Amino acid sequence: MDFELSKEQKDIKKAAHEFAEGEFRDIARDCDINEVFPRSLLEKAGDLGFIGVFIDEEYGGAGLGFLEHALILEEFWKVDPGIGQELCSVSFGAEEFLLFGTEEQKKKYLPPLAQGRAIMGFAITEPDAGSDTLSTSTSAIFNDNEYVVNGNKVMIGNGSLADFLLVFCVTEHEETSRSGRHSILVVETDREGYDADKIEGKMGLRASDTANVFFSDIKVPENNLIGKRGQGFFQLMQFFDRSRAYVAAHGVGLAQGALDLAIKHVKTREQFGQKIASFQATQFKIAEMATRVELARTLTHKACWMIDHGNPDTGTIAMAKWSAARTAVEVVDEALQLHGGYGYMNDHDVERFYRAAKVLEIYEGTKEIEKIIIARSVLGRY
Ligand SMILES: Cc1cc2nc3c(=O)[nH]c(=O)nc-3n(C[C@H](O)[C@H](O)[C@H](O)COP(=O)(O)OP(=O)(O)OC[C@H]3O[C@@H](n4cnc5c(N)ncnc54)[C@H](O)[C@@H]3O)c2cc1C
Repeated sequence: MDFELSKEQKDIKKAAHEFAEGEFRDIARDCDINEVFPRSLLEKAGDLGFIGVFIDEEYGGAGLGFLEHALILEEFWKVDPGIGQELCSVSFGAEEFLLFGTEEQKKKYLPPLAQGRAIMGFAITEPDAGSDTLSTSTSAIFNDNEYVVNGNKVMIGNGSLADFLLVFCVTEHEETSRSGRHSILVVETDREGYDADKIEGKMGLRASDTANVFFSDIKVPENNLIGKRGQGFFQLMQFFDRSRAYVAAHGVGLAQGALDLAIKHVKTREQFGQKIASFQATQFKIAEMATRVELARTLTHKACWMIDHGNPDTGTIAMAKWSAARTAVEVVDEALQLHGGYGYMNDHDVERFYRAAKVLEIYEGTKEIEKIIIARSVLGRY
């Protein structure tokens, strides 16, 4: 067993840290307030090789693992969760191409993503189907070598920015098994019948794009099908076994960033004639926060390491996602507490971190769904 990152991994982490410090710090608050994200930053990140590093070299990526992807995201989220989220979500779903795509699809869709010249998203959630993904009803009817897609998805990352989306939809309308009805299609957003309505005023992660999207008789060619017809649910679960591991890294990064802000504040702020860092109550908070972050990090790195070693373990991945998200929510709460009233004001970064944290317990599987998965892995099915 070796807990040491390799030299290459340390170099990647350092480079990601320097990039985030140099590029995010000064613009993060404005991006949050104005709910925008500079496209030039994505291109820069692409040029430096930070986007979708798990994409194979032959398709324009760095050919690294999910642990390296997680290390980069951790550093990005440490400096700003909103920009970190956008730079992660641009390749959200690329895993499906690698796992199930044809050679032609990989060559067409992956290189522009890795270069930071294209944006994608993954549209699963619907108004009446969130945690219960099998209840989604967006329909794709196959006729004459093409699918005709109709339906409505909600809260979709990059819905109003993406060049293309993966759409989880019903193609097997006559199938009686619930898990055999869905497929995953690539839908380019410049096709006739696509519409997106950007959601303004999210609680946090405001630099990142989220939209409700609408498919109205969109015609999609047969070769936009990812993998096999009727296998969409199983393909989706394998995607979650990767995405949830690096969403855990979002939590680790956010928590570490909040802890760093708190440390800086308690070392400078004075009350009762002394630094607030000198109060034992403060020291206990910092000790607990640091320990929780380290625990979440260790579990997250283990989950990613298992994926990279050909053994994605659903239970471990769910544990990492749940515990890192909980850690982020609890650590940022204490970090804000240590800032007193200043933490409540948006000229202090911790306010933005606080608003960003909660979503980690909701998207990519709510904390309740993660616990169902963990319990199942421990107890078996009941
Ligand atoms: C910022 C943001 C970005 C998002 N990006 C995307 C995206 O890119 N693509 C996408 O498809 N979706 C996206 N989503 C949607 C997200 O994945 C869903 O919100 C999430 O899956 C939960 O679904 P829901 O909101 O419908 O809640 P529901 O499923 O209605 O859940 C409501 C509550 O009931 C609980 N619950 C539900 N079922 C059970 C059960 N069986 N046992 C116990 N408790 C249960 C939940 O845990 C939760 O607490 C995004 C959401 C947000 C907020």
